[in-house]
Amino acid sequence: MHENPKLTIAIDGPSGSGKSSVSKEVARHFGLAYLDTGAMYRAATYRVLELGIDLNDAEAIAKAVKEMPLVFGTNINEEEIMMGSTDIREEIRSERISSAVSAVASVPAVREYLIGLQRWTIDHAVNGMVAEGRDITTVVAPDADARILLTASEEVRMARRGLENSEKSGASGDLSKQIAERDAKDAKVNNFMEAAEGVTLVDSSDFDFNETVSAVINAVNDQLKAKRAG
Ligand code: C5P
Repeated sequence: MHENPKLTIAIDGPSGSGKSSVSKEVARHFGLAYLDTGAMYRAATYRVLELGIDLNDAEAIAKAVKEMPLVFGTNINEEEIMMGSTDIREEIRSERISSAVSAVASVPAVREYLIGLQRWTIDHAVNGMVAEGRDITTVVAPDADARILLTASEEVRMARRGLENSEKSGASGDLSKQIAERDAKDAKVNNFMEAAEGVTLVDSSDFDFNETVSAVINAVNDQLKAKRAG
């Protein structure tokens, strides 16, 4: 085992916790790359739907995901998500993908493959990386230098998500229900509502964006300090 001089920060949390925008800002603060693992599961789902695969056919799903021509960037200033030569950055945020992603993400062989890809990506980051998702603190990078679980009350999360989506697509109505359903399906795969041992819980319910970013940065610095001291 060699000592890793790079900084890896793992951030997990449910939908609407502000994870993605906060993680990007934290990456900017520490000068790190940024890995949005949810976007990887979304890209995999895009591929499965593109090929017309039945969402109950785990074997066909796994094969399609392992063979998909995904190009995935980690530069904080320039998001890059391509399937072959198609830019899919916008499409993977659509309702079509959101409602199918949990089915694809619950296939064990899909998780195994994407977790391998995520670990490889983290290992090859030049200065280090902020990786965010549902299982980064527990499964993908349990040895990360700092591990945070970012939550917010259900009410606050729904309000934030509703705002984000209606700004993008004019959607509203049963959006909260869809998000609650997706969280419930995802929670069967990973526990991202409670902090595992050694993971700092940051509850952003009463914080605005800047306060949440500061709270996460403080939690990271506290963990780094404690590790250095220990
Ligand atoms: O974070 P985001 O909402 O974009 O994630 C989309 C979906 O990807 C989640 O609903 C979940 O099904 C899956 N996911 C996962 N593990 C992760 C990140 C996301 O299963 N680490």
